[in-house]
Amino acid sequence: MAAGDCAERPGIVVPVIDRSRCEAAADCVRVCPYHVFDVRRLGPDETSKMSAFSRLRAFLHGGKQAVAVRSDECHACGLCVQACPEGAISLAPVAKG
Ligand code: SF4
Repeated sequence: MAAGDCAERPGIVVPVIDRSRCEAAADCVRVCPYHVFDVRRLGPDETSKMSAFSRLRAFLHGGKQAVAVRSDECHACGLCVQACPEGAISLAPVAKG
């Protein structure tokens, strides 16, 4: 699927990454047509909110995990959900506020 092929418009859902599962495999980076993801070292503001198990998971992969850096560009195609070998990604409705 290429960018523009997805019928859904952005702003309906966002990808949510399960920090206890992500192993920084970067399949989401490769498959997302809208460049929503990056795999990078997590900052202290991110790790401080994580469980001890999730921090250990990130530590085992050099402190890196997937981050949805452009979640507002998600078009709900679901490719990242299918591609993640750890089942770490789900799509959640955008909170309206
Ligand atoms: S569902 Fe996943 S792959 Fe598809 S646009 Fe959203 S973040 Fe990218």
